[in-house]
Amino acid sequence: MIYGHPLGKQIILRMAAALQHRGQSATGIASRDPKANRMIEVAKVHGRANLLLGDPDFQGLAGNVFMTHTRYPTQGKDSKRNIQPHYTLAAQGKLVIASNGDVVNMNELGAFLDERNFRRYTDNDAELMATLIKWHAIIGKKELPEAIHAVMGQVRGAYSSVLFAEWDERVYAFRDPNGIRPLYYAEISDSRGTYYVVASETVAINVAREHIDVADRTGDVRIDVLREVQPGEILSIGRDGVKSYGYQGECRSLLCLMELLYLSRPDSLFDLGQEISFSTMRRRLGAATFAEHKIRPDVFCCVPRSGRPASIGYAASARVPYEEAIIQNPDLPADQQGLRDFIVSERGKLEKFRVIRDCVQGRHVGVGDDSIVEGITSRRLVRILRSCRISDLNFFAFAPPYCYPCYYGLHTKDSRTLVAARCASHEEIERWIGCGVHYLSVDRLYEIKDIARGRFCDACFTGNYPVPLEDHL
Ligand code: SF4
Ligand code: MG
Repeated sequence: MIYGHPLGKQIILRMAAALQHRGQSATGIASRDPKANRMIEVAKVHGRANLLLGDPDFQGLAGNVFMTHTRYPTQGKDSKRNIQPHYTLAAQGKLVIASNGDVVNMNELGAFLDERNFRRYTDNDAELMATLIKWHAIIGKKELPEAIHAVMGQVRGAYSSVLFAEWDERVYAFRDPNGIRPLYYAEISDSRGTYYVVASETVAINVAREHIDVADRTGDVRIDVLREVQPGEILSIGRDGVKSYGYQGECRSLLCLMELLYLSRPDSLFDLGQEISFSTMRRRLGAATFAEHKIRPDVFCCVPRSGRPASIGYAASARVPYEEAIIQNPDLPADQQGLRDFIVSERGKLEKFRVIRDCVQGRHVGVGDDSIVEGITSRRLVRILRSCRISDLNFFAFAPPYCYPCYYGLHTKDSRTLVAARCASHEEIERWIGCGVHYLSVDRLYEIKDIARGRFCDACFTGNYPVPLEDHL
């Protein structure tokens, strides 16, 4: 979300593109125009952000605040209706929301709204949250911060959300009391004023800063404030600045471990104070994996692209050459390039990689990936590598075995699809993948500098779900 900048529409499009790795199946943008009765409009497309440029709804967006969401479907069908941002209508006007994460007590909350005849039009949890907030605001006659606070007491699960309404000048950002999905807040200023940005990753805030810098031309653009939206915090941003409201309940900081291992972009910051990027943290994961297994292949390569930083870290620690021996297939159709496995087409999955044979032939090859979830990519790659007449092969996951489904926003709901859950033993995993498989253990992971036990959700590795799974019991 960006508030206050005259080029907000262009900037939000760039921010959406910067966060596209988080969801590539759809992109949506909402705006609110203070010159037109604070009218909220929404534009949505299947596919990537740049497709919005040809969309008539996008051309109609205007205003001083814009929010965006990039979707991959974790709840609800992959239909246009389910694309965020979602708006809900009240007599006072529209209220619009974009939210990252999944709610785990949808059944209970849906029943609450059904009993009160508050309809929803999608299967998506974000629309349900918006409708609940509307109920508290309209029927409960609460101001929006109080309505959001009341809903935070009802909703369980993971959510990092932004919201604004036609009847309230301010805009809002809030994060669940466990802080499972990331959310960052920044104040950027130039010679003309101060602008407010909220985003799931710092890379999007940097993109906004760069854009503001180009527009300003004085070279005097600064990020005055950059911090996390705290777990349980509600931020309210308006013409007179920012207010923060705390949640009157227990709050913990349990960032999704998969954000660190895989999901967040390598050039986003993991630690704001020390300015440590996710890339640097992943190199540490690679070093720790070598320390645990002490295997020295002749050559180490990565599964592009998310396995790269940790593979470089492994190779450096093992003092073995790192080679870009596996490349993403350049002759895949443009819309399949660089997509993550959960969204790629069947053809894309089959032809995703090419191996440069003379980098690996006759050698003992180590291959590293950020994690092994379903194991299909690893198994396919092992077959391709074996066809290159290598002498030996070991596969490394810079993560513990992924054994339990995620209900907080990652699309891994069925444990039958998870190779580590499906196989009865480690030997069975190795037989299925087709070579030696080496995970980074949970204990070793938490020995890495700046990765403290108790500061992350690690449920998919340990089964310790921090929020009870009410809809899934
Ligand atoms: Fe992240 Fe796993 Fe927790 Fe889901 S269960 S939020 S993927 S750590
Ligand atoms: Mg969701």
